[in-house]
Amino acid sequence: MSAPIRVTVWNEFWHENPRRHADVKSRVMNYGFSEDHAIRATEGVQRVYRDGMHKVIADHLSQQGFAVRVATLDEPEHGLSDAVLDDTDVLTWWGHIAHDQVDDEIVDRVRERVNMGGMGLIVLHSGHYSKIFKTLMGTTCMLKTREADEKERLWVIEQGHPIARGLPEYFEIPQTEMYGEPFDVPAPDTLVFVSWFQGGEVFRSGCCYHRGRGKVFYFRPGHETLPIYYQPEVLQVITNAVRWAAPADGPELIFGDHPPLENLD
Ligand code: ZN
Repeated sequence: MSAPIRVTVWNEFWHENPRRHADVKSRVMNYGFSEDHAIRATEGVQRVYRDGMHKVIADHLSQQGFAVRVATLDEPEHGLSDAVLDDTDVLTWWGHIAHDQVDDEIVDRVRERVNMGGMGLIVLHSGHYSKIFKTLMGTTCMLKTREADEKERLWVIEQGHPIARGLPEYFEIPQTEMYGEPFDVPAPDTLVFVSWFQGGEVFRSGCCYHRGRGKVFYFRPGHETLPIYYQPEVLQVITNAVRWAAPADGPELIFGDHPPLENLD
């Protein structure tokens, strides 16, 4: 049996963490939202994810046989030291309210691990606006949003893709936040899911990219106030994506001045 895939589940861990609730509330209200909204974004989230959403995702991935650790924003080096990344095949990333608090040096480190090292990266939901995803995409990664707890239907549109393994033709999330097109990302190498929302919008919800030696998967579901990371189909997609994004151990990237392979005389 081969060694298990090593996964690091990274979470911003502010919405669910009482020690950060004052910061989250002030940020939410600075965006112009109400105090009720700020309470939903803190105490409300903590009720859904008592120990943080990283715990729910990590527990599931452990049950699937992966070697899993967690890392959060407030740890030294955001929990992403060289030693941790040396021991990581696939990194999952959830962030939302504190993208600006992620150190540029750590972003560079993770980008290098993807490009040069072949580490897989799975970017979840509001991670679309993280520094690491924007850096790897090279675009604004902006989109439309609406919080109305409406229904989402995710259609599998690449039925032979490993990330679609074991899924039905489509699945639904009964209550979600809407993300709508335009989604300002490069055209994905492969688009695995398209979402339809009750309000009428559509969205590219499962986007695969190759970046150097590494693979990147963006997966849309996962709004913090709703129990989306408990839903079996959502966890199945994350599990499949870990397997897909694991390093292929392809050749190293060799740049710069290069001697000829044949005699040029
Ligand atoms: Zn959200």
